[in-house]
Amino acid sequence: MDARPMSLATSPTRPHLEYAVRLSDSPYKRAFAGLRPGDETRVFGPIGDFVLHERRPAVLLAGGIGITPLKGMAEYAADKTLPIPIRLVYSNRSEDEIVYRHELDALEKQNANFRVRYTLTRTVDPGWQGTTGRISQEALREVAIGLADPIYYVSGTPGMVVGTLRLLRDLGIPDDDIEIEAFRGYA
Ligand SMILES: Cc1cc2nc3c(=O)[nH]c(=O)nc-3n(C[C@H](O)[C@H](O)[C@H](O)COP(=O)(O)OP(=O)(O)OC[C@H]3O[C@@H](n4cnc5c(N)ncnc54)[C@H](O)[C@@H]3O)c2cc1C
Repeated sequence: MDARPMSLATSPTRPHLEYAVRLSDSPYKRAFAGLRPGDETRVFGPIGDFVLHERRPAVLLAGGIGITPLKGMAEYAADKTLPIPIRLVYSNRSEDEIVYRHELDALEKQNANFRVRYTLTRTVDPGWQGTTGRISQEALREVAIGLADPIYYVSGTPGMVVGTLRLLRDLGIPDDDIEIEAFRGYA
């Protein structure tokens, strides 16, 4: 059986399982996009330990479709009314590639401890209100201001994860304070 690892995009506080993919013309993506209500799929798991630490401030760093597990963490914190500050920096090439924007903005309203900052790396319309450019050292420093001993969660393509990990290490963040999820299968 041909299978792909997929992050759970929802929190266990929600009644359903949700998955999101970046579409392409691959056989897997075509099959995924072709699913209809009532179709059967096989799922096993969950496996892995990329989950939110409930007692420490969190800095969530997402690239593109890497938002999926981090969106689940943000839901979890909101649904459980966790008192920890959570700050998300979410990088995409262009505004129309931002996944779950509506849901993330709604979570920001639901949870006063949750803040989202979007950044675009390529196509930027004149009316764009967020920041531009890749996640930088400056952005990482800024987003952590006022947070006591945060954990950094990095999720995206292997390239994005390695690049961000390097920035965090250069800032002196110990590896014990960094959790990563690299979406193998994306360049
Ligand atoms: C922990 C984890 C969580 C993930 N979560 C998500 C998610 O939430 N949403 C999402 O869209 N994607 C996610 N991915 C990526 C996903 O598993 C697929 O790799 C991706 O969707 C590309 O699949 P494809 O068949 O379209 O690739 P193709 O473009 O067909 O793959 C190109 C080549 O890479 C190989 N390949 C593809 N995937 C993998 C892999 N994972 N490991 C090793 N070789 C591979 C294929 O066999 C093929 O040779 C996750 C990956 C990991 C490891």
